[in-house]
Amino acid sequence: MIKNLVGRLSGKGNGGPEQSPATSGHGQPPRHEPSHKAASETQRGEEAKPASRGKGNKRRRNNKAKPAKPAWSLDQFQVEPKEGETRFHDLGLRDELMQGIADLGFEYCSPIQGAILPHTLQGHDAIGKAQTGTGKTAAFLITMFNDMLCNPIEGERFVGEPRALVIAPTRELVMQIAADAEELARHSGLQVATLIGGMDYQKQLNRLGNTVIDLVVATPGRLLDFMGRRDLYLDHVEILVLDEADRMLDMGFIPQVKRIVRATQRKENRQTLLFSATFTQDIINLSEQWTFEPVTVEIEPESVATDSVDQKIYLVSSQQRYRVLNNLLRTEDCKSVIVFANRRDQVRRLHERLRKSGVAAGILSGEVPQAKRTRTLEQFKQGEITVLVATDVAGRGIHVDGVTHVVNYNLPEDPEDYVHRIGRTGRAGATGTSISFASEDDAFLLPDLEVLLGNKLECTHPPKELLV
Ligand code: AMP
Repeated sequence: MIKNLVGRLSGKGNGGPEQSPATSGHGQPPRHEPSHKAASETQRGEEAKPASRGKGNKRRRNNKAKPAKPAWSLDQFQVEPKEGETRFHDLGLRDELMQGIADLGFEYCSPIQGAILPHTLQGHDAIGKAQTGTGKTAAFLITMFNDMLCNPIEGERFVGEPRALVIAPTRELVMQIAADAEELARHSGLQVATLIGGMDYQKQLNRLGNTVIDLVVATPGRLLDFMGRRDLYLDHVEILVLDEADRMLDMGFIPQVKRIVRATQRKENRQTLLFSATFTQDIINLSEQWTFEPVTVEIEPESVATDSVDQKIYLVSSQQRYRVLNNLLRTEDCKSVIVFANRRDQVRRLHERLRKSGVAAGILSGEVPQAKRTRTLEQFKQGEITVLVATDVAGRGIHVDGVTHVVNYNLPEDPEDYVHRIGRTGRAGATGTSISFASEDDAFLLPDLEVLLGNKLECTHPPKELLV
């Protein structure tokens, strides 16, 4: 066991499917023939491209010389020790990473970070029971980046062979994780690539084929496409993160995820971190299968849901619903609002009505093309639109700070979705408000919700001014 851990900690998998990056252990044809040719035949005078694996014309990794910048030191990032809090300074992280953390304005670890990082930074596997909004993304990204920075690969590396991989169920979530990763890795030289369906394959391939990538963040389907076309190999993955495992299960991705996990090194030789908001027997079985002597960290959903979000339930008739929403959105406090509805057609109609009545609203649902969704999310982040109307799946990956209100236009059928929805507000130490409409159609869902939350939800009639 110790040997395996040492193998991991030194950044070299031992006994994995591939022995050395310089040898093509697969007996497979060389990859990236076209880009490889392009590199050798047409690139004279241009910056050399990194090599594809399995071909003779290999080049050393190009650690691009950067213009001299004033050196950053930890002295520029002072955080006072505080009773009961873990500072990032206390974890012995690399300075390049600390600079990224300082840029993001993080000072103390969130509970999950404080609980999990001391183990994962030592190379241990971990299972985290945590929702979004708890800081789990930074927890796994810091683990990955610190490990790769502490254990640089000295020899040759090839394109299409990442050292770290994150798999997440939705495109939005992947994009958010990748955006967080770019921020954290900004000063480290580590390279991140995003692979998601619904977006240009060629563009993603160019990024993979032109740069030696350290971390790939992907949805399962698109990742398998890249593997199937031999544009990506996972046998050098030292750290694997499976995020929102329960949602991957719900969405039917587990067979795909199994194939992906099998393509990486054996679990004894890689570090595996698995996160899930819920732990059903299926998830427990999968985590046992995929992790090696993991530590388990639980952050209870109640603390996410109730501590930072003021939850209101308005009893409305079906006819009043829209009027209350429309009036609510015009109140001064509602600066940045996500409105959830259960079905795509409801989301579409609601969005149209709001736009017609002059509300700066955007739509986020599975039927909207990915590029448009990305634009909408960006506009929302920038405050160009103040209201986002979303379905659960599309809305689950929204990680925008400063969302003042979440409105549940209908109550979700799955109580877990309620927790996810309201967790879009009250993030990162802020407080937020959730307003859920309960009418004759869906009030029967409240008791189950109260069981999950562990407390009663007070139902009131909306204030008069919202009913006019
Ligand atoms: P996540 O649970 O990963 O979606 O993170 C929730 C939000 O918390 C994100 O906006 C992060 O940028 C932010 N965050 C993560 N860790 C910290 C921290 N230690 N201090 C302050 N904000 C944080």
